[in-house]
Amino acid sequence: MFNLESLLRENIKRLVPYSSARDEFKGQASVFLDANENAFGSPLPVNYNRYPDPMQWPLKYKLADIKGVPPQNIFLGNGSDEPIDLLYRAFCNPGGRDNVVLCPPTYGMYEVSAHINDVTIRKVSLTSEFQLDIEGLQQAIDENTKLVFICSPNNPTGNSINRSDIELLLNNFDGIVVIDEAYINFSRQKSFIQELTEYPNLVVLQTLSKAWGLAGLRVGMAFAGEDIINVFNKVKPPYNISQATQELALQALDNVARVNEWIREVVVERDLLSAGLEQLPQVLKVYPSDANFILVQTTDAKGIYQYLTERGIVVRDRSKVELCMGCLRITVGTPAENVQLLDALKSFNLKTETSVSA
Ligand SMILES: *Cc1c(COP(=O)(O)O)cnc(C)c1O
Repeated sequence: MFNLESLLRENIKRLVPYSSARDEFKGQASVFLDANENAFGSPLPVNYNRYPDPMQWPLKYKLADIKGVPPQNIFLGNGSDEPIDLLYRAFCNPGGRDNVVLCPPTYGMYEVSAHINDVTIRKVSLTSEFQLDIEGLQQAIDENTKLVFICSPNNPTGNSINRSDIELLLNNFDGIVVIDEAYINFSRQKSFIQELTEYPNLVVLQTLSKAWGLAGLRVGMAFAGEDIINVFNKVKPPYNISQATQELALQALDNVARVNEWIREVVVERDLLSAGLEQLPQVLKVYPSDANFILVQTTDAKGIYQYLTERGIVVRDRSKVELCMGCLRITVGTPAENVQLLDALKSFNLKTETSVSA
């Protein structure tokens, strides 16, 4: 049985959270002398002299509307990195007592954040189809496993993880299943955020950094049952989302139609780019993608990477990553950028052909 209290670290259970000036007075007033702010204003065209809403309610209400999830089921962080770190800090005793299960190849922050928090990592590699190894997971998970991270669509492979496998895990694991849906907007698969009432052990991560085009603002979202959201709120720094970020994100969220149009364009471009890449002799395999990037297995990842950077084009070399031998990860760009990439790759062939014949 899932029991949040028994999963929490003792120090977090006992923790008396910081109570800010904004927490202690919530009524109407005109003279605010409670937070040691600069009452005169800010040396800017716009004033930022007041501390922001620690709970970001207006932003959460608007997101709730867009996502179809109650605002009390939303946590906002300084990027997705913040909820990832908070999960370790709240649930995993450091120094070898508790463990987290990761499924490489996947997003690197789960591992880095575990190391920062001194949490033991158990790795269960994805299968050659980049799907969950259910038997391996069964063997790796024990009574000290607090978290399992699943990235779907997965970075860097681009595929979605089979829904039935994730459901099996949600139904049979009494720790927390974190599903990272950073790329869900580009996916054919359905999000898990409508399943929060079904699974008390579910945390879904999303972000404004990818489809929403706001990577520079740093807004990550965690969706979960209210009890888990309360844990996040207890542990987070009081003012973790700045006033400027809250205002800009609110403004951005008025443009859902624009973002949806971009998503359709990216998906069209992704399929064109995949088809173009498949034509190239130095490309061995183009993996199917449910994201805004494509994993491509090549004959010479390092050489192609180098060649492209000399032409001012940067892709991600993933050839040293488990199960990704020879692979580059390529983000879908604008139509012009994708043509530029394909043209550069075509002349890479000419180069190798001439060098072979010479
Ligand atoms: C890009 C990405 C994120 C987003 O991180 P932010 O900190 O919100 O920018 C999260 N998870 C995965 C798998 C990603 O690739």
